[in-house]
Formats: sequence, structure tokens, C-alpha cells
Amino acid sequence: MAIASINPATGERIKEFSSFDDAEIEKRLSQAEGAFRKYRHTTLTERAELLHGVSELLFQEKQTFANIITLEMGKLFRDSVAEIEKCARGCRFYAENGARFLEEEPAQTDAAESYLEYQPLGPVLAVMPWNFPFWQVFRFAAPALIAGNVCLLKHASNVPQCALAIEEIFCRGGFEEGVFQSLLIEPDQVEKLIVDARVKAVTVTGSEKAGAAIASAAAREIKKSVLELGGSDAFIVMPSADFESALNTAVKARTINTGQSCIAAKRFIIADEIHDQFLQEFVERMRKLKVGDPMDPETELGPLATEKILQGVHDQVQKTIAAGGKLLTGGNRIHGPGFFYEPTVLVDVPKQSPAYREEVFGPVAIVFRVGDAHAAVDLANDTTFGLGSSAWTKDREEQKLFASELDVGMVFINAMVASDPRLPFGGVKRSGFGRELGAAGIREFTNAKTIWIS
Ligand code: NAP
Repeated sequence: MAIASINPATGERIKEFSSFDDAEIEKRLSQAEGAFRKYRHTTLTERAELLHGVSELLFQEKQTFANIITLEMGKLFRDSVAEIEKCARGCRFYAENGARFLEEEPAQTDAAESYLEYQPLGPVLAVMPWNFPFWQVFRFAAPALIAGNVCLLKHASNVPQCALAIEEIFCRGGFEEGVFQSLLIEPDQVEKLIVDARVKAVTVTGSEKAGAAIASAAAREIKKSVLELGGSDAFIVMPSADFESALNTAVKARTINTGQSCIAAKRFIIADEIHDQFLQEFVERMRKLKVGDPMDPETELGPLATEKILQGVHDQVQKTIAAGGKLLTGGNRIHGPGFFYEPTVLVDVPKQSPAYREEVFGPVAIVFRVGDAHAAVDLANDTTFGLGSSAWTKDREEQKLFASELDVGMVFINAMVASDPRLPFGGVKRSGFGRELGAAGIREFTNAKTIWIS
């Protein structure tokens, strides 16, 4: 069975689920349509109260939900708890700010009165990944719900218990049946949903392949889509940077969630002057990371989420070495039960190798040397992705250069790239289009309706 919980720390198959058949999908679609008819007429105050309730539930039961995350995809338990807290804060943020973002916008025209009104679209389908199995869902659902939409979730096949827990949270939080539903379905059942007239829009967080397939289907139906896809973020360090802080953050930025984050730093671009010292200390710190049981508070690096991901990462590393890349540490699976991989550092990575061209979704860093900030920008932009970039420098001119010239959706100076409900999140190029979070995120799934009254 494709939909299953397998503990990545042990490889043990815990639970399997059958995918919904056509009759069940029809029932859920009809529930979503019925729920929208009613829910769209709730007030913003009522929706905010519901989201506050969900936020409270998340805070109160964070240990229980975090346990499901760690069990199904191997995240360090403390990070799973932090993920649940972030979801709770995200719900609270939209409960407190939704009305402000959705306020009518008066316009000065020749009309007696003219304004813009943000109205919900209807049932929105979200196809989500496993790497932040709660946060990815909540960062879509909280703004979509406050705007008056209803949600249909197709979660990744390896986190079904997370999917069901999230559905239950919304239900216990007081949302009426049908307002938020988790559908246990396979990728080949998604197109049928997109084609269905009751589904008004779709959002995907995942790989380029999934994004392209889903966005094509949505385009054929003339339906709105938002794509949050992969990234190969650069992490640039210049001579004026706070070296220790940059170094510490570099290790964290590459190994967060065992490297399985779209905004994890993947390419380290270091100024010539500090390159050798940085590389030596970076390799040392990567090598010393304590790999092991994600439930153990001492552990610094957990397992990869699935056997397939581990094989994919290993294959990319091996092919990069075969193409001429030099391995400084790691490069192997850690033998024993579970899907553990050594923290890995590669240098002299050739342009055509997988580590240079593709996203590596695991604890594998590649390090480059550059002469100056302009060369750093050129190298950072030499990728098909454009999600985020982190640049470390105290030089004001360099800060401005990185902010304006890096071809990405998000630039963080002297900080790690992160998502924050107060700011829009998203990328350019093959990292996708559209935005989540902030005011931009809430408006993606609304009809910005122009009203003219003569
Ligand atoms: P994935 O294989 O694309 O899976 C993501 C979701 O899409 C899953 O629910 C998957 O279902 C579904 N899916 C896959 N192929 C599909 C198809 N042809 N039609 C319909 N649905 C399909 O992605 P992943 O490898 O699990 O996740 C990691 C990727 O997500 C990375 O590239 C990462 O950078 C990206 N990501 C991006 C962001 C962002 O905000 N930009 C955030 C997190 C992750 P199944 O599980 O059933 O296959």
C-alpha cells in the first residue's frame, strides 16, 4: 500500500491506509461544496475565533502532535515541537490580522463610490509534502480559511497520520464538517479533483515534477495555482562577516530537518580571504554532528524521511564524485536500521554534476571559493532555482548588492532564510510562483473584486 507510516529511525512499517475510492472522493467534494455555501457567510470575527481555538489546541497538545511528526518523518522531536508551536502562532497571526488584510480598499475614481473587495474562491485543493508536515499545511490553511475558503488536503503518502490529525484539529477547533478535509489519495487521483468544477484553485508545495504536472492540469481547466517548489539556496560569506556566527548558522542552515528543507542552504559561496579557514572549520563541525535517534535530546542530525530519499541523495553524491567532485567528509549511508546518512561536504564540484545543478535534499553541502561580491552573485544566480539566499557581510554596499542582485524570492542578510507569517514566502524561476504568508498569501485565494457604484 502506497499510503503508509514508516518510522524512518527504524524502518518499521507502522500503519497502512487504503486510498479513497471514487465514491468517497465524491462524498468529500460534495461536503466541501456544501460547507463553503455556509462558511463563506461567516464573519471575519467568527473565523478568527475558530482559528484562535485551533491555535490553543495546538499549543496545549504540542507534544502529542510532535510525536506523530517524528514518528512518520523522523524530525528531531524538539524541532517537531517547535513546528507545532509555529503552526499555533501562524493561526493566531491570521486570526489577529486577517480582517486588516482583507479590508475593502476604497479607490478614488469618477464613480460615486468604488472599491476593491476580497472574496473567497471556494474549495481549494492543497497538495503538500512531508518535510514540514504540519507547518506546510497550516501556512496554507490559516490564511485560506480566514479568507472564507474551504480546504481539501492531499498530503504526502508517508505522513497519513499527520494528515488525519490535522483534519481532527480543525474539527475539534469548531470548524464545521467539510470546511477542512484530508483526502487519503494517490498522485494519480489529483487530476480528477482539479478537473472537478467544485474545486476552484490548487496549491502545491513539492518537487518541480509534481508542480509542473499539477499546474498543467490546473491551466487546462483555467484554474488558479500557486507553486512552492524546490530550491538550491546560496549561503554567501564575505570577509567582513561575523565569522563565528556565519559558521554556526551555516551548519544549522544545511542540516536543519536533516537537510530536507526547500530553504536549507545548499551551496556555500565563500570569499577567498576567509575560504580556507571557513572550509576547515565547517568540515570539522559537520563531521562532529551527533547522528541518531530523533527522540534523543542529544541528537543533532536525524534520519532522512524515506529509503527512497536516502538512495536519491547517495546517488547524487556518487555521481558528483564520479564527475570530479572532491569528498571532504561523509558520503555514506550509516549502516544499521533506519535511513541515516553521514553529514557530507563536497568541493571542486563540476558545473554539470548533480550537486551543482540539482537540489540535494539531505545533509550534503557543496563549498565554492569566490574573489569578490560580484563573483558571489554570479555564482549564486547560476541555478535554475530562485527560492532564497542568505548573505553574510557587514559592508553596507555589499548588503545592497546582494539584496538587489540575487535572483530569488527572499534574501536574508546576516541571518538564515526562514519563513515568518508576517512576511511573504515564495520563489522565482523553477522554485515556483505565487506567495504564501503575509498579506500576499491571504490574497492568493481570493477574488479581488472591483466594485463601481455610479
Ligand atoms: P513531491 O514528490 O513533489 O511530493 C509533494 C506532494 O506532491 C506529495 O503530496 C506527493 O504525493 C504529491 N505528488 C507528487 N507527484 C505528483 C503528481 N504527479 N501529481 C499529483 N501529486 C503529486 O515532493 P517531495 O520530494 O516529497 O518534497 C520535497 C520537495 O518539496 C523538494 O523539492 C522541496 O524543496 C519542496 N518544498 C518546497 C517548499 C517551498 O515552500 N517552496 C517547501 C517544502 C518543500 P505522494 O507523497 O503521494 O507522492
